[in-house]
Amino acid sequence: LVSQDSRASATPMMEQYIEIKAANPGSLLFYRMGDFYELFFQDALEASRALGITLTRRGQHLGQDIPMCGVPIHAADDYLQKLIGLGYRVSVCEQIEDPAEAKKRGAKSVVRRDVVRLVTPGTITEDKLLSPSDANYLMALARIRAGDEPSLALAWIDISTGVFRVAETTETRLLADILRIDPRELILADSLFEDPALRPSIDPLGRVAVPQPAVLFDSAAAADRLARYFGVATMDGFGTYSRAELAAAAAAVAYVEKTQLAERPALSVPEREEGAATLFIDPATRANLEIVRTLSGERAGSLLKAIDRTVTGGGARLLAERLMSPLTDPEAIRARFDSVSILLDAPRLITDLRAALRQVPDMPRALSRLALGRGGPRDLGAILAGMSAAYAVGETLAGVELPQELDAARAALGKLPLDLGQRLSAMLADDLPLLKRDGNFLRDGADAELDEMRALRDQSRRVIAGLQLDYCEETGVKSLKIKHNNMLGYFIEVAAPQAGPLTEGPEAKARFIHRQTMANAMRFTTTALSELETKIANAADRALSIELTAFDVLSSAVIAQSEAIKAAAAALAVIDVSTALAVLAEEQAYCRPAVDRSLQFRIVGGRHPVVEQALKKNSGPAFVANDCDLSGTPKSRDGESPGAIWLLTGPNMGGKSTFLRQNALIAILAQMGSFVPATEAHIGVVDRLFSRVGASDDLARGRSTFMVEMVETAAILNQATERSLVILDEIGRGTATFDGLSIAWASVEHLHEVNRCRGLFATHFHELTVLSEKLGRLSNVTMRVKEWDGEVIFLHEVGPGAADRSYGIQVAKLAGLPPSVVARARDVLEKLEDADRKNPASQLIDDLPLFQVALRREEARKSEPSKVEAALKALNPDDLTPREALDALYALKRQL
Ligand code: ADP
Repeated sequence: LVSQDSRASATPMMEQYIEIKAANPGSLLFYRMGDFYELFFQDALEASRALGITLTRRGQHLGQDIPMCGVPIHAADDYLQKLIGLGYRVSVCEQIEDPAEAKKRGAKSVVRRDVVRLVTPGTITEDKLLSPSDANYLMALARIRAGDEPSLALAWIDISTGVFRVAETTETRLLADILRIDPRELILADSLFEDPALRPSIDPLGRVAVPQPAVLFDSAAAADRLARYFGVATMDGFGTYSRAELAAAAAAVAYVEKTQLAERPALSVPEREEGAATLFIDPATRANLEIVRTLSGERAGSLLKAIDRTVTGGGARLLAERLMSPLTDPEAIRARFDSVSILLDAPRLITDLRAALRQVPDMPRALSRLALGRGGPRDLGAILAGMSAAYAVGETLAGVELPQELDAARAALGKLPLDLGQRLSAMLADDLPLLKRDGNFLRDGADAELDEMRALRDQSRRVIAGLQLDYCEETGVKSLKIKHNNMLGYFIEVAAPQAGPLTEGPEAKARFIHRQTMANAMRFTTTALSELETKIANAADRALSIELTAFDVLSSAVIAQSEAIKAAAAALAVIDVSTALAVLAEEQAYCRPAVDRSLQFRIVGGRHPVVEQALKKNSGPAFVANDCDLSGTPKSRDGESPGAIWLLTGPNMGGKSTFLRQNALIAILAQMGSFVPATEAHIGVVDRLFSRVGASDDLARGRSTFMVEMVETAAILNQATERSLVILDEIGRGTATFDGLSIAWASVEHLHEVNRCRGLFATHFHELTVLSEKLGRLSNVTMRVKEWDGEVIFLHEVGPGAADRSYGIQVAKLAGLPPSVVARARDVLEKLEDADRKNPASQLIDDLPLFQVALRREEARKSEPSKVEAALKALNPDDLTPREALDALYALKRQL
């Protein structure tokens, strides 16, 4: 940008700019000039392009014009929002002394400035920049190499709410964990950023991942840094963290310190999250199932949008978080169901709770701004409104018999300090300005001296009105007015032709002091008027200073109660989510699933939560409910058998992918603690959910669709366990028929024999249906259709059996393919089918032994020991003489 030695020829201001710019690389510098933030050089070029604002010039540097653009202070948030959204980070440079001070140092002196804050996507707190329903996480990734096994950990902070968590992870689940938490910004050491082993997890994050100097991640200093931040001697008192967790947590804190500079956000102590406690959803599945956003990145159309009935920002964030990280502990899941159940049975309670909840503002974010010294009167107002709403919610729940989760929430509400609420309510005015410097946010009666000042001010204004009347009478000029502007303060104004009585005669001259002559008016003042003016100004100054002091006092009182306020806010979020889920269950007729540690998966009357609502909204045909039973038949010998796999065939457009997805979504909903779109459901907790659905295009990363499909399939076959649920849609479609069929065939065998997971496998290879003859837990099901006059009607019903044909041509006809092409396709199909009948693939099942590896393993386990093995087992070498041993050897040899 600008070399250091170029400073020599710069103006003092440019010199200062260049110095500050050099100290803050990697960001756009917002340089405060009066009522503007100005950007220069390359920053100006980039920002003017990104923001669509005018690029101008300011002076010259080294003989070249300096490009410049500026944003007004009052609109800065909007521009920041846009820049942050585009992935920029912005250093905000303010004047850090009164310009009068600078003048004292000499006429040429520049006002001291410095960067007071680095605005990055992961560290923002302004309401305008935040989405109320999303958490805003800054995440740090750290790796510790101790011995051979490197350990990885993630720490994530939402400085807008103070949430702070850590968890261990592994290279294989890293991306899944990151996506589950969905940070806005991920920081990691340069060396990790460059590490080829981590590339597959870091690349997909794009601009979210930001390399940082390694010192931030120094594990030796980690515990001390954290202890210092939390003002304790040691972190031991907060629980045990692994070294990697400490390093990640300390790096996150260091980055917060780096971006917030002088301020200290009120972070909670890092809370450990156990990896195994959440349902593992791999990245492809998370994207393809469109859980919190659709493949095109939108909220509308996602599962979250379809089920969200929350009425508070905190509730919306908690719901999203639960949906992103469903649980695997049946007890914890059932505890959440209990909350929904009790509310479902109490419609009145729901109505009352929601009325109170709707008044809940975003307390954690207001609290965070206050703690960072960025708060305004409305943030105090939000705390007050939140406390009153919390009180109302607590009252509503008083005396109600509540299950554990809601009972704990009610208890947290009860711990809010009532006196703080009363104090805020006694002090704060009803209508609050955004900025504290605007004053007038304390109510009358809040402070005696303030009342006095205000009375003085108002009284003086009345006196001025009286003065105007007096002067009118005295001079006989009816149009005489007393006005006010910033230049002159209060002044008397008369139209020029009528100014006579104020300018003529010594008495008038002594009384009315001339101030200004305008084109058609003259302005005067009087001693009485200036005295009043001084009184008003002093009163206003004093009033503002009283208000500002009161603001700081109230602010500190609120911050002192951070823990209780945060706990209450969290409790309100829990109550909001439970209530919202009850509302959803009622409105959409969802049922409470049975969740336990079995390997059952039985859904009766299941529906797709998103498609069902979409059909309803467009008053389309009703969604056709379908059962799904992937439970293995219990074996008498060793308890439970592994679950089953359904092989689903049927025409395109028949509803196969809808059925596949709905069952995966039902599992997710159940494990996040929601009722599910079904009439009955029994789910043995799923530990991992895998899917290979839809063709998610990854062409940008240079992989063909087929390659992506195979990579995802490989991940599933390598990782799925007996507890997993696997959803596979049209494996092998992206290649030649025989390749595709063979891959699909082998994959089904592997899932059945090796993974032994519960699964749904949709395919257009009808040849696969013969597999059910050999694979005991594989059943064929099909999407039923009716034929009517050569047309095909989709019933969207899943029934037993296999589709006899694919109806591709009928679907093509429906889609409007030219009739000549449809007719020709029919001819071709007939020929092909003829040829196939002579050499059907179904013959494969007789020719092809089953999946070799798996079978041998199965057989080895099942078969009795051979005679040789039995004889060998019976031998005890220590009891044998050499002669006997030799005989035994001969005997064994004979048995072969
Ligand atoms: P396939 O995967 O077999 O090609 P889809 O699952 O994409 O079929 O479904 C095709 C269309 O049929 C979708 O647009 C969906 O709206 C509709 N549909 C699917 N399942 C049902 C159902 N159970 N009830 C009503 N409509 C359905």
